[in-house]
Amino acid sequence: MRKHLSSALVLLAVCQLASAQIQDLASPDGKLVVSFKLTDTDNPTYSVKYEGKDMLMDSPIGIMLDMGAKPTLQGLPQGRDAGTGDFTKGLTLVSVTDNAATVDYSLDRIKKAHVSHGYVQRIIELQNASRQKIEFEFRVSDNDIAIRYNLRPGQQRNSTRVLFENTGFTFPDGTTTFLTDQSDAMIGWQRTKPSYEEGYTNDGPMDKKSGYGHGYTFPGLFHVGDNGWVLLCETGVSSRYCGCRLSDCVDNTYRIEFPMPEENNGIGTTCPAVRLPGSTPWRTITVGSTLAPIVETTVMWDYVEPVFETAHEYKYGRGTWSWIVWQDASCNWDDQIKFIDLASAMDFEYILIDAGWDQNIGYDRMEELIKYANSKNVDVFLWYSSSGNWNDITQSPINRMDNSVVRKKEMAWLEKVNCKGIKVDFWGGDKQETMQMYEEVLSDADDHGLMCIFHGCTMPRGWERMYPNYVGSEAVLASENMYFGQGACDEEAFKATLHPFIRNTMGCMEYGGCFMNRILNKQNAGRGSKLKTGPIFQIATQIVYQNPIQNIAICPNNLEDAPKICMDWLKTSPTQWEDTKYVGGYPGKCVIIARKDIGGKWHVAGMNATNEVIKAKIDLSFMGDGEAVLYSDDASFENPSLSTVKLKAKKGYLMEIAPNGGVILEK
Ligand code: CA
Repeated sequence: MRKHLSSALVLLAVCQLASAQIQDLASPDGKLVVSFKLTDTDNPTYSVKYEGKDMLMDSPIGIMLDMGAKPTLQGLPQGRDAGTGDFTKGLTLVSVTDNAATVDYSLDRIKKAHVSHGYVQRIIELQNASRQKIEFEFRVSDNDIAIRYNLRPGQQRNSTRVLFENTGFTFPDGTTTFLTDQSDAMIGWQRTKPSYEEGYTNDGPMDKKSGYGHGYTFPGLFHVGDNGWVLLCETGVSSRYCGCRLSDCVDNTYRIEFPMPEENNGIGTTCPAVRLPGSTPWRTITVGSTLAPIVETTVMWDYVEPVFETAHEYKYGRGTWSWIVWQDASCNWDDQIKFIDLASAMDFEYILIDAGWDQNIGYDRMEELIKYANSKNVDVFLWYSSSGNWNDITQSPINRMDNSVVRKKEMAWLEKVNCKGIKVDFWGGDKQETMQMYEEVLSDADDHGLMCIFHGCTMPRGWERMYPNYVGSEAVLASENMYFGQGACDEEAFKATLHPFIRNTMGCMEYGGCFMNRILNKQNAGRGSKLKTGPIFQIATQIVYQNPIQNIAICPNNLEDAPKICMDWLKTSPTQWEDTKYVGGYPGKCVIIARKDIGGKWHVAGMNATNEVIKAKIDLSFMGDGEAVLYSDDASFENPSLSTVKLKAKKGYLMEIAPNGGVILEK
């Protein structure tokens, strides 16, 4: 199913260079250009231009390793061999090796089913003052740059700790930012943060300090004025490294930062440890003159490899989920029967049974409940807490996932009772120890044919390709916040038009939305958060938000009280995509995105986060001529409509979207 990186590397040039003059490195189409140089003081920098325009100015690059005999636990390395791991300055060029190659793979859980494109690779070998060598590796495709460090063994050193990365991103003056804060550690619900559930600055200035003073979590979007757009992220993070983030901005520069010591209840390391030889994860820079390359990028998956193969065939689809509206009290037998019946009535593949099932239903009766679900053609996901000793969570089951002895026993039971997946919640940050636990849970789960969804968690970093049973991460201020408070409902449209350009473009996003109740409580009446967006907007989230398993926030009453056209649409809503295209929009204001399902039908979804009707002339020529089906919100949200329209590829199409409303066009 998955075709690995082409091994047919074409050797273009290997040159031994005495001077620091290295030719610019251009993408296959020649538009994206990376320049690397060693300055007079031998500090390495790189810069990026797109179509001749500045996207990143001279930006720092380099890494500091701990190569001493004893580990450096504070400050910089001291003593006899202190200098050997410093690759941030005093570097001389040893060699430059250029290759051209292609990526070519299929993946059934991302925005595109098949990825195939060329890239150029440059490995710059450098030597520091202690004659220790390192490689800076660049891969450049038409709109993406990926950078990593290849680390070599030192004299008597076959392992190291990375003390810090000097990798930075220096933007031209006037660049504005779309960034989300890194939280303080050990705050929030039962001391579970950070969990990638913060708000966004919207077109903010670079010199604004981050909310908690800890910088920002990936991905980060930057509007480089008229020059275009840049999205920063990282990928290929496994148990072999920690997750990183962006620092606050100093002199237009954001740098890579490691986890905070307080994360995960203070347990574990801030510096990742690497066996030598070894490589860091990829730092990625996606660049475009428009937002299309940002929405359509596959850089998160292009250069990572499967960590393990699977013997299982995993099946994706939609699920019901009682907890999102009926909350904790609903994780009992009777209510779960109702949501199994709802899933069955909707032709959904799954039900997700949330926290507390072990106490309210119990292990023995759960076996019976799963049999009932299966008799209705519905498969089951069960909720677990990841913890553990790193937060104060009491929602159960707890202590079943954090320890391999207990976990293996639990997963053998899950397989025996024909459970198909787990949702593991409340993780402990980005340290290497936490990344190790993600990988262990995924690996053990795959042994038992279980898919994994993570909540209260970090963002995925290439995991759809790395782990065959990985199917979703929250890592976003998700639908639950709309139940918890009116503010999140008021901001729903605004956030919905950010995610396709930022968080969700870099990995699947388990948002858990699509409400058909207008008031978010069990009665769909009285006190409760009120939806401020239309019903077509709600179903359009199923196209705009990409996740291979969509847990949908509908309730049993919606079979009677929700617009029939919406419920009918949901009955056949796709969750896997052949292709994805940016059609229009601007973060925080509007999004129009097109996805082709694996049956070949295009679904164009538009959402409007402004107070005005949007009338956008859009190019849908990729859909050809002919009749298309149009779902549209009206201004009152009371009369969503279904009609047919004629598309004429040459003429363009005038899409009209009501304020806080949505549109779906299908052909
Ligand atoms: Ca959450």
